[in-house]
Amino acid sequence: MKITKVATRLLRVPLEQRTITDSQSSVTHVEFLQVVLETDAGVTGYGMNWSYTPGLKTAQVAVDENYAPVLIGKDPTMRKAITKECFFTNHFIGRVGATRVGLAAVEYALWDLACKQAELPLWRYLGACRDRVKAYSTDGGWLSWSQDELIADAKRLIDRGFDAVKIKLGRPDPREDLQRIAAVRKAIGDDIDIMTDVNCAWTLAQGKQYGSRLQEWNVKWLEEPMKPEDVTMHAELAHAITTPIAVGETIFTREAFRDYITAGAVHYVQADSTKLLGIDEWLEVAGLAASYNLPVVPHTNVQHKLHVQLAAATPNCALVENCYESINDMWVEPIHVVDGYYQLPQEPGVGLQIRDEVVEKFGIA
Ligand SMILES: [Mg+2]
Repeated sequence: MKITKVATRLLRVPLEQRTITDSQSSVTHVEFLQVVLETDAGVTGYGMNWSYTPGLKTAQVAVDENYAPVLIGKDPTMRKAITKECFFTNHFIGRVGATRVGLAAVEYALWDLACKQAELPLWRYLGACRDRVKAYSTDGGWLSWSQDELIADAKRLIDRGFDAVKIKLGRPDPREDLQRIAAVRKAIGDDIDIMTDVNCAWTLAQGKQYGSRLQEWNVKWLEEPMKPEDVTMHAELAHAITTPIAVGETIFTREAFRDYITAGAVHYVQADSTKLLGIDEWLEVAGLAASYNLPVVPHTNVQHKLHVQLAAATPNCALVENCYESINDMWVEPIHVVDGYYQLPQEPGVGLQIRDEVVEKFGIA
């Protein structure tokens, strides 16, 4: 089998819900880069990547101008060699960032071809350790919600079967954050897990001062308290407070995860394959975490369908985030959470094909 054509599309898909806000972003749309690989065997591979902020055009140009010439004529079963060759087209100016994001989209399409050739969904192709995956919800804890809305949304999600919900932190006055956590804990009782997420807004001093209070409400983890580049700062915080630290959604390399893990700076490894070089590097990070007896809880939003399958095949990855359900139907064969568990896709492939109508309607480049 040889790759005969590489096509890309850029989409801008509106969220069919109120504008949602965390400490860094106010989200009304999600952008997608779709990558399609056609082959002489008649099998088509689909990959994608995403962003809340403009910038995927850079990733699209990298695919069209750097990676496509590498891909044409290649045997897709040589995936790791192909990915390496593509990566080194960006050696001097694009080892992380948008060019890497574009390459992950290509990598998913290569995996999609492999799974389709084997006629298996990704999770079965990898070798599964579970046939459903527990979910926790981020869809009700936004910073822009009032305290009453936070409580109402947490109760709605619990009624749907979730027993773990995430609340965003990072208001200008962190004392308000603590008041909101206290109010939600009081309203939903002690049997539900509460996670918290600062989206990198705090200083180390704030992390110590306010993060140390989270144990009062038995918070499961404190996520992205500070900017992700500073491992030393996270290690100091991790050793200063009792609430576990979760990081990973803005970490681009396995080496950065190694540094976090060996420094004792992370307790929940939130590796996101869309920031790494795709599935192969995600599996390497998950294996590294396993060797330190650390759970992987992948960051995910629109790409949950991918990470649910990785979780189903990774023993130390038993919990996956759920978010943005309002655009879940954009996928061919969307998957859903039932009684707190993700159901797994059954169609062969990686499962990142976007419905043609959605591509048609929201395509921008
Ligand atoms: Mg987060």
